[in-house]
Amino acid sequence: MSGTFESFGRIRRHKRRGVDPNSAMEALRVGRCEPAGLLAFGNGRSYGDSCHNDAGSLIAMQRGAQIHAFDPTTGIVDADAGVTLAELIEYAAPYGFFAPVTPGTRFVTLGGAVANDVHGKNHHKRGTFGCHVESFELLRSDGKTHHCTVTQNPHLYAATIGGMGLTGVILRLRLKLTKVSSLDIEQRVTPFANLSEYFDLAEAADEENEFAVAWVDQLATGRFEGRGVLMTGNHADNGNFSAKRSRLPLRVPFDLPFSALNRTTLGLFNSAYFNVNKRKTAPHLTNYQSFFYPLDSIEHWNRLYGPAGLYQHQCIIPSDAARSVIPAMLAASRDAGHASFLTVLKRFGHVRSPGLMSFPQPGYTLTMDFPNQGEATLRLLDRLDRMTVDAGGRINPYKDQRMSPAAFEAGFPEWRQLERLRDPAFVSDFWRRTALALGADAAAPMAQYARGHA
Ligand SMILES: Cc1cc2nc3c(=O)[nH]c(=O)nc-3n(C[C@H](O)[C@H](O)[C@H](O)COP(=O)(O)OP(=O)(O)OC[C@H]3O[C@@H](n4cnc5c(N)ncnc54)[C@H](O)[C@@H]3O)c2cc1C
Repeated sequence: MSGTFESFGRIRRHKRRGVDPNSAMEALRVGRCEPAGLLAFGNGRSYGDSCHNDAGSLIAMQRGAQIHAFDPTTGIVDADAGVTLAELIEYAAPYGFFAPVTPGTRFVTLGGAVANDVHGKNHHKRGTFGCHVESFELLRSDGKTHHCTVTQNPHLYAATIGGMGLTGVILRLRLKLTKVSSLDIEQRVTPFANLSEYFDLAEAADEENEFAVAWVDQLATGRFEGRGVLMTGNHADNGNFSAKRSRLPLRVPFDLPFSALNRTTLGLFNSAYFNVNKRKTAPHLTNYQSFFYPLDSIEHWNRLYGPAGLYQHQCIIPSDAARSVIPAMLAASRDAGHASFLTVLKRFGHVRSPGLMSFPQPGYTLTMDFPNQGEATLRLLDRLDRMTVDAGGRINPYKDQRMSPAAFEAGFPEWRQLERLRDPAFVSDFWRRTALALGADAAAPMAQYARGHA
């Protein structure tokens, strides 16, 4: 089986080798896998190369995936890892349940959400996706299926949550959903004139609301510099449990030959977005799809970046440095002549993830999306990495396509523990170019595996 198996950034576009989950499982169960390694592939909503393994094969996890059982008294659902969040939300809604944590797209698989330990707009209240995973079945190249919980195989449990697919294949999991009063969200929008105002608002907004996230006009300068809107929300009380997927009304049907998202178009978009939203200050009801997944309604919207694709940069800056470093990062991007389509700022709370390599830490997370303009973009991204590392922060690996091994190690010194628990038959392009490039010792499990299968 071959296919593009693209990641969302679409920087390296070529055909990749895929394997049918059943044959991959069969090979793993009898301890026979290809030496160049395997990697599970969910729905490619990671931005970079953490979901790729170009020398080896990808296991297409969505095939045949289904929900097995749901207990409305406990909220625990038992589902295959290839089920998508969109499917799960539609299934659980009539029972009055919703995903405990959701990223900004519902087109992710449950396995992908565990492997990246994704976060949502309620990190300050509920932590990451992994905080709600009761157990999972992990198939490794020893041919065994390991039942993992906080107390059974605890090291594999911790290493797999946020372990980016490197510990084996999650076959099936039990996830605790949240009982809600409605799928609708009562939303409030609070405009801020600059980032100081945002930082003054953020902590109290988190205390008072289940969901909070800010959009920033990255291109605004002068007296408008750092303006934006803080969007907060809570599940409404109107008992609306209709999860019907809105038909995707808009679609970018083909690759544009150039990026439609440039300084001029984004300058216009940002001004319009700010001016429309700043008027929505009164509390109002919003459909869950528009609140959580505004971009899911435009199919293939990443094609707007043109054939060269996009880079996303997401970092965490510790709270004490955020007030100076985040404005400096926005200025650095503007000075480099780069315009970010989506500039999102969010405060991470203190709920600890059970995952060893989970990305969120207390502090502020800034996310920017840049069209790929070659060397100039890579220089800017390196600069943003340096600013992050100097501030004691870290860069999100599952959004990344190019950070240096040193920048990765500075943010994730615990990578060596993951390397010790990595399944020797599993590897990703991201892991090869960061962790495995850091030292000969690190490559030991892969070499040992290759020797055993020579
Ligand atoms: C528009 C948009 C908004 C987003 N917003 C957010 C956000 O708010 N917060 C956030 O945290 N992320 C966000 N993301 C990123 C996205 O949520 C994650 O990258 C997610 O993990 C992708 O899931 P996937 O199923 O597409 O997995 P893939 O991208 O295909 O794979 C992700 C990782 O999971 C591993 N994996 C997949 N399935 C399995 C399995 N069964 N067993 C073991 N490993 C597996 C893969 O090997 C890979 O390492 C966003 C992405 C987009 C495109």
